[in-house]
Amino acid sequence: MFWQKEIETASRSEIEKFQLQMLNDTISRAKKSKFYSKQLENVNIVKNIEQLRELPFTTKEDLRNGFPYGFLTVDLSEVVRLHSSSGTTGNPTVVYHTAQDLQNWANISARCMYTAGARKNDVFQNTMGYGLFTGGLGFHYGAEKLGMMTIPIGPGNSKKQFWFMKNFGTTVVHILPSYALRLYHSMKEDGVDPKKDLKLKIFFIGAEPHTEELRREIQNLYGLKAFNSYGLSEISGPGMAFECPVQDGMHIWEDFVIPEIIDPDTLEVLPDGQEGEFVLTSINRQAMPVIRYRTRDLTRIIPELCPCGRTHRKIARIKGRTDDMMIVNGVNIFPVQIEKTIMNIPQAGKNYIIEIMKKDYMDKLSVKIEINENTFDGTLEDLECLKRKIEAELKAETGVSPTVTFVDQGTLPVTEGKAKRVYDLRQVKDKR
Ligand code: ADP
Ligand code: ZN
Repeated sequence: MFWQKEIETASRSEIEKFQLQMLNDTISRAKKSKFYSKQLENVNIVKNIEQLRELPFTTKEDLRNGFPYGFLTVDLSEVVRLHSSSGTTGNPTVVYHTAQDLQNWANISARCMYTAGARKNDVFQNTMGYGLFTGGLGFHYGAEKLGMMTIPIGPGNSKKQFWFMKNFGTTVVHILPSYALRLYHSMKEDGVDPKKDLKLKIFFIGAEPHTEELRREIQNLYGLKAFNSYGLSEISGPGMAFECPVQDGMHIWEDFVIPEIIDPDTLEVLPDGQEGEFVLTSINRQAMPVIRYRTRDLTRIIPELCPCGRTHRKIARIKGRTDDMMIVNGVNIFPVQIEKTIMNIPQAGKNYIIEIMKKDYMDKLSVKIEINENTFDGTLEDLECLKRKIEAELKAETGVSPTVTFVDQGTLPVTEGKAKRVYDLRQVKDKR
């Protein structure tokens, strides 16, 4: 049931056939909403998948403008759940689900977990936030569907996390990559060695950009396999793309969404292999399908077939959002470039923040890195050397000259949800 061979290994023409059918169903359903009744006024039937390109895009702005019910396609009495973004700047984006939507989502997240090797006899600890954020509830129902004993512990309280892991023999954990590092340090402080004292086998890590280097670090620290997991609330939440055991890119479940990559400036569709903005059309949603939704996430579709046998295409690790890009003295930099550099220097701590300031009309990029005695036990002179080494490597990676400052372990600001890495102090600007 969780390994759906006919669907997951279908040929391209079979995939396109069911996608076309589902797309047309979605279009006719979408037109029941206020927004799409206008947006798709002149669209009737799409004859082939290529024609999707002729339909207009949907943006986050459209969703906000459609607040609260502009995208709803069913009677409110059919809606059983609402999720929403925080909406600190203006209207929040609200996403609705029917009972069928929740079933479909649970099935797809169960498929993800099964793909990564989770089974009925596993014990699953979900450290993602429960509530309006989709990370917690999204995988919760998939895990129960798979039959795992599910511990809905939610985020934070590290001591409690590893107490549960120890006492209930947790084997599978859903966790933010930034929190996985913090949790490890907390375990260390309390003398818990996850490799010896716990039974952990699998982490699902996602919800925020992270590097291959950080994944390897997490795998090494805990002695397990960490699988990258991608999703966004507008298309349900976690489970939309997921790594298989090959661990080289995430399969996009093409019976759930149709992926495209576009050039964010010209809006042209790019061929597989080229990096651009990820655009998704949900073809298996009832209450609130979105058509050609611009995710703002940057990635590329991997053109090669995966050796695992699944034919649903894969996306490369997300580089960040288009609006995560920092422009420092005219040079474009993504936070993951800084992370990659830091992760490759074993003596450096792994927790960091990036600050950008303006001084004498020039941008200054400063990176604060936590240092800890497990990775570094040298003299002050060695520390100065390490600082210069990291600065040189950061310069080589980014093309600008960042300043590195070391701070004590545990002193950088902690966020309970997704990590906030970048503090742009040049002007107070709010993106959301
Ligand atoms: P918000 O948009 O408020 O962060 P979501 O929970 O819907 O709310 O977050 C979805 C976004 O999180 C994605 O669009 C993407 O930017 C990021 N994201 C999710 N999974 C991953 C992942 N595995 N790697 C990188 N970024 C991710
Ligand atoms: Zn695969």
